[in-house]
Amino acid sequence: MNADPLEIQKFSELAHRWWDPTSEFKPLHEINPLRLEWINARAALAGKKVIDIGCGGGILTESMARKGADATGIDLSDKALKVADLHSLESGVQVRYELIAAEDMAAREAGQYDVVTCMEMLEHVPDPGAIVKAAATLVKPGGHVFFSTINRHPKAYLYAVVGAEYLLRMLPKGTHDYGKFITPAELAQFAREAGLQVDGLKGMTYNPLTKIYSLNNDTSVNYMVACSRPL
Ligand code: SAH
Repeated sequence: MNADPLEIQKFSELAHRWWDPTSEFKPLHEINPLRLEWINARAALAGKKVIDIGCGGGILTESMARKGADATGIDLSDKALKVADLHSLESGVQVRYELIAAEDMAAREAGQYDVVTCMEMLEHVPDPGAIVKAAATLVKPGGHVFFSTINRHPKAYLYAVVGAEYLLRMLPKGTHDYGKFITPAELAQFAREAGLQVDGLKGMTYNPLTKIYSLNNDTSVNYMVACSRPL
C-alpha cells in the first residue's frame, strides 16, 4: 500500500485536536480560506461533485460542502475521519467520509468527480506520483484537480522545518521530512504523466512577523497547483 504507517499514526495521535484553531492544525485553519477561494474561483464549487484526498479532519472538505459542493473526503487515518464525521454532524454540513486509499477509490469511482483536491498530503506519501495518477483517474474529462505541498527548496527547510518545528514550534518536531518535499517541476511532471494539464501555480507564504499567510508568486515553500483533465 502507498502509505507510510508512521505518518498515518502521527496524524491519528493529534486527530482529537483537529478542529482546535490554536492546535498543531492552526496553519491548516489559517490557510483554508485562501485555498478555498482560489479553488472556488477556478472550479465554481456549488453543485459540483468533489473528492478530497487525504482530507484529515475535514477542514477543506467541509468548507467546500459549505460552498454547495457534494463533497466526499477520504483518508487512511480512521481517527481523523471519525473527527471529521463528528464535526460535520455538529455543524450540520453534509459530507461523506470514507477510509479508503486514493488508488482504490480511483478503481471504484473512476471519472466520477468534477473536482479533486489533495492538499498538504503528497509530502507524507511514499509514492506521490501514484496519488497524482489516482486523482487524474477520479476526475471527469474537463474537471479540475488541485494539489498543494511543500517545495524541496532551501527556504522551505528554513521556514517549514527549522522555523515552524524548532523556532516557532507551530508544528511538532518531525512533522515534515525535507527529503520528501516536491518541487513544482516534479509535481507538474507527475501531473502531465497522469494526463493532466497544468493550468496554474500559486505560492502561499507565511510572514512570521505579522503571522499572516498570503497567496502570491513565491512558490519556494508552500504552493498549490491547479490542473485539469482535457476533454
Ligand atoms: N488535506 C487536509 C489534511 C492534511 S494533513 C488539509 O489540508 O486540511 C495530511 C493528511 O494526509 C492526514 O490526514 C493523513 O492521515 C493523510 N495521509 C497521509 N498519508 C496518506 C495516504 N497514503 N493516503 C491517504 N491519506 C494519507
